[in-house]
Amino acid sequence: MSDRDRDRELGMGREITRRDFLNGVSIAVGTSLLAGNPTWLKAFGVPGSPFAPEKDPGYYPPAKTGMRGSHDGSWEIAHDLRDGKKWPDSADDGESYDLIVVGAGISGLAAAYYYRKLAGKESRILILDNHDDFGGHAKRNEFQAGKRLLLGYGGTQSIEAPGNYSKVAIGLLKELGIDTQKFYKYYDQKLFDSMHLKEAVFFDKETFGTDRLVPQRGLHYFGVEFAMENVAQIPIAEAAHKDLLRLQHASVDYMPGLSPEQKKTKLIKTSYKDFLLQYVKVHADVVKVFQSSTHDLFAVGVDAVSAYDCAREGYPGFKGMHLPKSHEQNPEQDEPYIFHFPDGNASIARMLVRSLVPGVLPGHTMEDIVMARADYARLDDAASPIRIRLNSTVVKARHLGDPANAKEVEVTYVRGGQARRIRGANCILACYNMVIPFLCPEMPDKQREALAYCVKLPFVYTNVQIRNWKAFQKLGVSGIYAPGSYFSNVTLDFPVSMGGYHFPSSPEESCLLHLMRSPCEPGLDCKDQYRAGRWELVSTKFETFERQVREQLGRMLSVGGFDPARDIQAIMVNRWPHGYAYEYNALFEPLDRPESERPCVIGRQPFGRIKIANSDADGHAYTNTAIEQGYRAVREIVKA
Ligand SMILES: Cc1cc2nc3c(=O)[nH]c(=O)nc-3n(C[C@H](O)[C@H](O)[C@H](O)COP(=O)(O)OP(=O)(O)OC[C@H]3O[C@@H](n4cnc5c(N)ncnc54)[C@H](O)[C@@H]3O)c2cc1C
Repeated sequence: MSDRDRDRELGMGREITRRDFLNGVSIAVGTSLLAGNPTWLKAFGVPGSPFAPEKDPGYYPPAKTGMRGSHDGSWEIAHDLRDGKKWPDSADDGESYDLIVVGAGISGLAAAYYYRKLAGKESRILILDNHDDFGGHAKRNEFQAGKRLLLGYGGTQSIEAPGNYSKVAIGLLKELGIDTQKFYKYYDQKLFDSMHLKEAVFFDKETFGTDRLVPQRGLHYFGVEFAMENVAQIPIAEAAHKDLLRLQHASVDYMPGLSPEQKKTKLIKTSYKDFLLQYVKVHADVVKVFQSSTHDLFAVGVDAVSAYDCAREGYPGFKGMHLPKSHEQNPEQDEPYIFHFPDGNASIARMLVRSLVPGVLPGHTMEDIVMARADYARLDDAASPIRIRLNSTVVKARHLGDPANAKEVEVTYVRGGQARRIRGANCILACYNMVIPFLCPEMPDKQREALAYCVKLPFVYTNVQIRNWKAFQKLGVSGIYAPGSYFSNVTLDFPVSMGGYHFPSSPEESCLLHLMRSPCEPGLDCKDQYRAGRWELVSTKFETFERQVREQLGRMLSVGGFDPARDIQAIMVNRWPHGYAYEYNALFEPLDRPESERPCVIGRQPFGRIKIANSDADGHAYTNTAIEQGYRAVREIVKA
């Protein structure tokens, strides 16, 4: 079949909600498209008109489809800065604030919240962000199924293990009105079980010689496990079947003669792939089965994740190893993975914004935030002490005078193609660690080097709206791990209903699928894999993602009656070239580095009136860290 015929079969030419003009157009759009439309001329800052797209009544980023996440228009200025561009002709806005926050992610919003709490209600705060929406990675995706709203998450998925949250992080959630215990009621933990839906693995013909869906043992939090009777269905060599069963069931000490601590040290410095091949001595096909199973947590495959990390996550092979007791289980597995708003942790960001800027979002509970529609025109209102300015990339933050004694910081940002200057008594950089050396060239070299050490993990979270989910019911699956495919995980959305939002619990209803991709390059050191993945993401067109979505869903689900041309209604690709904070992969990092010598600790030191927040500042890619780092940065201001 020719490529064109295949595209037609997949429905590549079909009308779907992918690039609806009013909601989906990029801010960086050329003026020729806008000719003759006065509202848009104004919105996009054609010379003579103020740049204020957020004031347009049609401005509503959560409903934009097509390429989201790090969308076009959000990253180009920062890359120009990296490449040495200067903005000598910036205009002075004449604005001054008590605090300027760079980054409207959860950390920046939390920092503004704490600052107001400690310094008083009248505090004047400006929060700047380069995206067209607030929340950073915590992004809301909205879809329309007829009159019904479907909600998805573009990044930050769930409040993970809130029982382990610090007093500061859980305290903020409580102050916002979030009671995590309520998710036991809102998350239907029985729905998929009651329909006999399980996890499955899709083996693709390019990697395994044939396309085949094989059920897993059940819902496994992380990793892969097969029931004995299903192992024979896996399209791998006969010897690999036996090895897989041995790996799952045998209780063998693969490192005899070593103490538990010595084993731990060795496993930290051995990849799970090498552990399987060199210690368990499995057939190479077994590694292919596990290769991408670590993508969602580490953004690399088992070639670049330590065997020790896999042991902690419950991977097979460690039953007879007698590892140190305290490290065998990951405490995060003690709580179910149910603490999920329908739009993920975007609800936390939205509740922070609701508290900070009056009038943007109505309501006051964790329930009424779910369906609330944000009024973006109110975000940057001169009458409000706290303002959020989107579509604004900061290119410089410098002290006016000697950093040790200066009274003010001057921040330069680019908005609508124009560089502008503002002043703040304090500045918190709640953006990415690696952009900070470019923003603050006056910082000490050691600190700048430490900040540059962080390489964020790239991810793609794609939400696909489908006409119904009957194919999942027919195949008896709720989630599919696909070790050799473009997207390594495909899952039905989480079954959460709250605040007037109802999960489409009947398979006849339109619902969202979540597809995850980690664009890595097995074989390289993990940071090089992340760099390669980042490059892949910025150079991949939406059309390529769309074709991959259609091709993969068609091949996985057509046995269940799914037709990608007929059944796909909308696609949102949330690409995050700079995703999770870098978490010091034990396999590639020194074993015995003291806390004070961790690059993130050196990097986050206060620099005069400039403080550093963001989850990178603690090398931990979680919402609680983002909150804690915002809190720490504000405490540093107060102390100073
Ligand atoms: C795909 C994905 C899924 C995740 N899932 C979970 C999860 O389920 N649970 C969990 O706890 N955590 C999760 N995380 C991690 C969590 O999202 C983060 O730890 C947290 O949200 C980070 O918040 P932050 O404010 O520190 O950073 P960010 O959310 O990255 O916000 C920083 C903001 O600063 C902006 N910025 C950067 N440079 C500039 C500049 N020069 N000028 C202006 N603005 C700038 C950025 O664009 C961004 O908007 C996930 C992360 C990703 C990427």
